[in-house]
Amino acid sequence: MPDWLITGCSQLLTLRGAAPRRGQALGDPGIIRDGALFVHGDQIAAVGPRRRIEKLRGARRAEKLDLGGRVVLPGFVDSHTHLIFPASRAAEHQQRIAGATYEQIARAGGGIRSTVQRLRRTPDEKLKIRAFANLHDFSAHGTTTLEAKSGYGLDWKSERKTLQLLHELHQEQPLDIAATFLGAHVVPPEYRKRPEAYVDLVARRWIPTVATAGLAEFCDVFCDRGAFTVAQARRILAAGRACGLVPRIHAEQLARTGAARLAIELHAASADHLEKINASDVGALALSNVVCTLLPGCCFHLGLAHYAPARELIEAGAIVGLATDFNPGTSPTVSMPMILSLACTQMRMTPAEAIAAATINPAYSLRCHDRVGSLEVGKYADLAAFDVDDYREIPYYFGVNLCGLTMKRGTVIHSKNR
Ligand SMILES: [Zn+2]
Repeated sequence: MPDWLITGCSQLLTLRGAAPRRGQALGDPGIIRDGALFVHGDQIAAVGPRRRIEKLRGARRAEKLDLGGRVVLPGFVDSHTHLIFPASRAAEHQQRIAGATYEQIARAGGGIRSTVQRLRRTPDEKLKIRAFANLHDFSAHGTTTLEAKSGYGLDWKSERKTLQLLHELHQEQPLDIAATFLGAHVVPPEYRKRPEAYVDLVARRWIPTVATAGLAEFCDVFCDRGAFTVAQARRILAAGRACGLVPRIHAEQLARTGAARLAIELHAASADHLEKINASDVGALALSNVVCTLLPGCCFHLGLAHYAPARELIEAGAIVGLATDFNPGTSPTVSMPMILSLACTQMRMTPAEAIAAATINPAYSLRCHDRVGSLEVGKYADLAAFDVDDYREIPYYFGVNLCGLTMKRGTVIHSKNR
């Protein structure tokens, strides 16, 4: 692969420095005006002002890529997606518009369980084609690394199938995919009357097999009203951790259950959602290393007025992240720029805070901040270039894709002609 000298970056947001970022540090994107990068192989070999970088010996011989004044940032790290699913749930969207709640639809057999029924019947190849197309769209919106969960199979054959598909996709297309085992998404229909037996099965049988086969790095539980209790989540996540699977948790979305406290207790990598946390939870999270991954796309799609308390978390010093929560029920979007718009308008994050929360902090939550999440020497050349004059225009515009070019590990994987 060629070496690259990348110039024409009117603003180069490096996000350099210590990770993860908290408090005021979240608002400092480390901007270089008229910046340049020298890429050797799949890594950044030099980054700085153009005048310095273009004089480097290797850079003079490299292929030239002039971005023509675009704003350049690290590729987005989307740390919460449900990538593999068989179909949309647009009919439920219409039911919600007519007044049904998410939980009413779930109790009537819709929601996650309807996706489970359908995924079990869908051939692998169909699921894979759909995921391939979605991954292409992620990269076209500037995402270069993502996390993806199982959890629409809920029997061993389908959970294994999902995790194997994620492994194949990681090998066969450019984006890096970190796999999470979410066998405890909801209690599957065949265990409805004996949920403890299902918890037992997940904790004692499936988790050791997933870990031994290397099918996932992380373990997640949907710990909420109508899903799993804190006690059940503790059992599952502790079993995962004992096998080397790092805990993540769906916490405090529908009701305040104590799941955020459980995340702290178990040293989870991430507690996701957090719409229902209170002031004392904010204080406890701020003292921990748990990334508070906020998912505003979910509130938007569900038409809710109440979003997670991002400002309180930032001001208390918590590690705040943002993700799409790409899934067919509550957040059908691949667009991190749209998530940035929602974070700014609905949760009053500044554009700089939102960008740090979409790059370096989620990289920390995926334990890959030594390789991605900022534009620094030795990290992968993973970047997104936007057709704007100022980085604040990325969340300012919405409903339009302004990502003009995406590079993953030194290879251009998306390019829009201007
Ligand atoms: Zn989720």
